[in-house]
Amino acid sequence: MTSITVYDGATTIGGNKIYVEEKGRGVFLDFGMNFAKYGEFFEEFLSERSPRGIHDLIHLNLIPKLNIYRKDLIPIDLDVSSFPSLNVEAVLLSHAHLDHCGNIGLLDARIPIIASPISIALLKAMLDSSPSKIRSEIAYYSEKILGEDPRILRSGKTDIGRKFVCIANYSEDLINFLSLSVKSTKKLEPGDVCELNEYSTPFEIRAFEVDHSIYGANAYILYGDTAIAYTGDFRLHGKNAEKSKEFVRNAKDASVLIIEGTRAEREDVNESEDIVFRNCLKVVEESKGLVIADFSPRNFERLETFLDIAKKVGRQLVITAKDAYMLHAIECADGVCRMKDMLIYNELRATRNKWEDIVMSKWGDNYVDPADISKEPEKYILCFSFYDMKHLLDIKPSSGAYIYSSSEAFTEEQVFDFQRLHRWLEHFNFRIYGFEVVVEGKKLKPRFVKGYHASGHASKSDLRWVIEAVDPDVVIPVHTENPEWFIENFENVVVLRDGENLEV
Ligand SMILES: [Zn+2]
Repeated sequence: MTSITVYDGATTIGGNKIYVEEKGRGVFLDFGMNFAKYGEFFEEFLSERSPRGIHDLIHLNLIPKLNIYRKDLIPIDLDVSSFPSLNVEAVLLSHAHLDHCGNIGLLDARIPIIASPISIALLKAMLDSSPSKIRSEIAYYSEKILGEDPRILRSGKTDIGRKFVCIANYSEDLINFLSLSVKSTKKLEPGDVCELNEYSTPFEIRAFEVDHSIYGANAYILYGDTAIAYTGDFRLHGKNAEKSKEFVRNAKDASVLIIEGTRAEREDVNESEDIVFRNCLKVVEESKGLVIADFSPRNFERLETFLDIAKKVGRQLVITAKDAYMLHAIECADGVCRMKDMLIYNELRATRNKWEDIVMSKWGDNYVDPADISKEPEKYILCFSFYDMKHLLDIKPSSGAYIYSSSEAFTEEQVFDFQRLHRWLEHFNFRIYGFEVVVEGKKLKPRFVKGYHASGHASKSDLRWVIEAVDPDVVIPVHTENPEWFIENFENVVVLRDGENLEV
């Protein structure tokens, strides 16, 4: 008998926390941050307080009420002893997007993360290059100590690496990268790393690479009393579609399919990485001045798409130092250097972070100054997004093209950002592709133009194809705002909301 409990992520896009247990031993499939739930209470300048550990998250029901968290994150005025404790032996991470990994750092430090070498490297690089808050402490964490007032937790002086179990063999470079401390005053004690076949797990676990909008994404099949397949996030319309199909072929012996349904509520549109390539190429070919490509950080496949475009038209692709650090991390995992045909934007700033010293020492010759871009803007494609608009004040372009190649805005705050982005682009005389701003009841609103972005998620017709091909006894939809679509379209659909459980 196998028990499956979906603690979170059944009816929202992301926040997946799925617990699978057999004979009292279990694993979590992802332990992500639920942005929809966080957003009900928090915004940029109002967030959970790190010195209060998990207190705020428990009280606002943003993480499940379970006794599975790090002991050092529990202040004196929070009692978790009455919450159920689970025998969690590992977290299987599907990929390094925060809605899948963002709450792992809160889990009891003895629980290892099972993941691909690339995901592990990205978790480390993401934390290295962001301010330490408890919500980002996944790859390593600083053990908290009770303050003089024991309701307040203070940070220790040493960072401790979490234990990782690699689904594939790992390199010495990855180990060195995980041991490297880049936080100014802190030491880093690296955690253990081993391979999946050296590690005892409650289930036999097989990992499959799948196509998604980040490298290192995996689906899993767990074999115990029954076989359970978990898609993570995936798609069938990117360059690595074949890999997703290989997983589907192997999932045919699974009796339970846990499947993402991000696009279950949207109409299918014909989109692919290839269509994005062709449309963006046309824009760049027709543009005379500076070109800016705006896509999500860590969408490396889109980065490759723009690199191909740049090569084809004889321009140079310029990325930010942070992007370069991510590429350094991935290189530590898979040994492939992706920097050789790219330049790094030289930000005008007073101080540099320690992680950027690594980028500088490795690729110092690849830096390009805003003054050089200013002289010959037609030679470059800049990979910038809204938050990089300030750098245009140093480049001072007289005109250009801006390609928005990312997902549509959903929240009110994102809509405001688009109004500001539009103002910046207007100021510098840019032509905009991928979105336009329209007046709606005296207010400006973004309207998105298809063809410049392809989703990281499977379309409805692809979801249907996967479910029919796997033909499981039970379908459990997650990562969707529309579980009803699954109920209406397939037999044997079970929606497990907020801690509901199924025995198979
Ligand atoms: Zn994702």
